Amino acid sequence: MSNSLIKAVEQLISPARRILLIAHVWPDGDAIGSLLAMGSLLRDQDKEVTLACEDPAPESVAWLPGSCEVAGQASGSIDLVISLDCSDQDRMGNIYEARLTSLPLLNIDHHITNTQFGTVNWVDPSCVATAQMVLYLAQALGWQVTEPVAVCLLAGIVTDTRSFRTSNVDAATLRAALQLVEAGASLSRVARQSLDQQPLAQVRLFADAVSGLHLEDGILWTQMTRAMRQRWAVPDNGTSGLSNSLAGVREAQVVVVFTERDNGTVDVGFRAAPGYDVSEVAASLGGGGHPLAAGCTLSGDLERVQDQVLGQVRRSVAEQRARALSRPQESDSDA
Ligand code: 5GP
Ligand code: MN
Repeated sequence: MSNSLIKAVEQLISPARRILLIAHVWPDGDAIGSLLAMGSLLRDQDKEVTLACEDPAPESVAWLPGSCEVAGQASGSIDLVISLDCSDQDRMGNIYEARLTSLPLLNIDHHITNTQFGTVNWVDPSCVATAQMVLYLAQALGWQVTEPVAVCLLAGIVTDTRSFRTSNVDAATLRAALQLVEAGASLSRVARQSLDQQPLAQVRLFADAVSGLHLEDGILWTQMTRAMRQRWAVPDNGTSGLSNSLAGVREAQVVVVFTERDNGTVDVGFRAAPGYDVSEVAASLGGGGHPLAAGCTLSGDLERVQDQVLGQVRRSVAEQRARALSRPQESDSDA
């Protein structure tokens, strides 16, 4: 974190008394972990804090300290808005209502596709999770990282890296995790509760989705329709784990999972094998994310959404293969 950035962030936070923190719609472990940790850190600085997210926390992180305090709307008077893990303004959902748009907005995020929508934008794609950035902020401003804060931040890092296995994990990530463990967080508990444990109904739903997998020219895809979810009574915020497990399929360069939500939209989760990038295709469809894990939300009939998305993915994969083929020739000509 550069000195000028610390100053800019401090200049927003220090005069603010009532702060609204917003995590992204359909929150994941990093969104909820960062939200809860930031809330606790700011309360320790005597700020009045409201934590908000349009959708409820998934069961995998609903056990984190303070998660029952997250509201589904913002009320009361506010001096400053802080968005966490949101790559664009729409990711704040209906929490970011019209009356808030005239207030200063601090955008803290690690997505490469971030659209810099804040008054101050602290966007660092070298961090594996927004939670890592919140730790750095606490350290830069001399705020004490208590045990509950450490647990929330470690949950953010562990879930976004699938327990330190994604290609963006580096020495800085491990150092951050070490500091959180030293502050009292248990890595085994966080990993078990936020990643490993899942309801049996979800496993049964995933089994149905796995039996409907299609592999076409390195693109592996499947769907979870509303009827499939209803069969096992799985809520629409309990399905994001499937794309992660499919990302390890050796024959697949790109994984696409379509999930029909209750509100009629279709959630599209993308995963890529190293060497491929799905953030571009996700961004071109109005979503965003990271090179190896991205997503978008589209409205309309499931089959039409699938045709549209798979068409774009095929084009994107073909372009990436063509670029990869031309690369050795470029280096040959350099030699
Ligand atoms: P997941 O597939 O685990 O839900 O998401 C993978 C990554 O893509 C996360 O970094 C997440 O923030 C991003 N992502 C998922 N869905 C959307 C979406 O609808 N819009 C945007 N902008 N990003 C998304
Ligand atoms: Mn994140």
